[in-house]
Amino acid sequence: MKLALFDDYRVGLVEGDSIYDVTDAVPNADLRPPVFVNTLIARWTELLPELRRARAGARAIPLANVQLLPPSPAPAQIIAAPANYHKHIAEMGALSVTPKGKTAREMGFFLKSPASLSGASRGIELPKGSSRRFDHESELAVIIGRTARNVRRADALDYVFGYTALIDVTMRIEPDGRSEERSMRKSFETFTPLGPWIVTADEVGDPGALHNQLFVNGEPRHDASTADLIVPVPELIELASSVVTLYPGDIIATGTPEGVGPIRPGDELLIRIERIGEMQLAVRETAEPLAFAFE
Ligand code: MN
Repeated sequence: MKLALFDDYRVGLVEGDSIYDVTDAVPNADLRPPVFVNTLIARWTELLPELRRARAGARAIPLANVQLLPPSPAPAQIIAAPANYHKHIAEMGALSVTPKGKTAREMGFFLKSPASLSGASRGIELPKGSSRRFDHESELAVIIGRTARNVRRADALDYVFGYTALIDVTMRIEPDGRSEERSMRKSFETFTPLGPWIVTADEVGDPGALHNQLFVNGEPRHDASTADLIVPVPELIELASSVVTLYPGDIIATGTPEGVGPIRPGDELLIRIERIGEMQLAVRETAEPLAFAFE
C-alpha cells in the first residue's frame, strides 16, 4: 500500500493517479504536530481492516488536486548515513567532510532535524541572498515500523514499515572556507524533502536493488542502484539501533550516490526511486534573508 499525507494532514491511500481519504479510520488524526502518524505506523496491521473499510467508502481524488506533505512528518529522529557509495566518495574529494571514504560502519551517523522535512507541495527554500553552494543528494529512505533496539542485521528488515524517497539538501563547505557544523548545514527548514508517499515494505521487497535517479530541470544528475550501497539497509538498522532505540516513524537516510551537484532558486527537481515513485520539487528562496546570513 501507499500511505500519503495531504492538505491539512489528511491521511490517504494512493492507487494509480488517485488518492483515497481514510482519515476517519485513523485515531487522533487531529493532533498537531501530527505525531499521530507514528502511532498509525506502529498500529498499522491492527488498523488495516478499518483502513480498508474507509478506502472502500472513499471517493477517488485526483493526485494532481491535493497538496502532498512529507509522509512521516513527525519522526523522533532522522538518522543519516555519511558517504555510502564508493563513486560518491571519489567525486567529493577535497569537499568531503568524511575522512577518506569512511562510512557509517567506521564513523557512525549524523542527524538531520525533523523540522527540516518538506513535501512535494512545499519544495525547497534556500536562504535568500546566500551565495553559498547548496547541493542535492538523492537517497532511499527507510521508515521504521516497530520499536527497534540492538536489532541484528538478519532480522532488521522485519522492523521496516516501508520506504520512500528523500533529498538530503546540503550546504557545502568549500576548501579553506567556512566550517559550519554538519547537522545544521543539512537541517534548514525544507532541506529534507520526503515522499511522495511511503510504499509499505511488503510491496518493495528487497531494498538492495532499487534504481535511484534525480533530475534537475530534466537533466540527469544521479543514476545509481541501491545495490551499490557500501553499508546496506539491514546493517544500517543494526548499527543505528545499537546506538539508540529506533521508533515507528523514524527515518534512516541511506546516503547519496555519485552525481551530487548544486541547486538554485528556480530549479525543478525530480527524484525517482524504483518501486516507490517520483516526486517533483520546486526550489525557491526564503521570503526574507536569515538572521544567520550564510553569505
Ligand atoms: Mn546524504
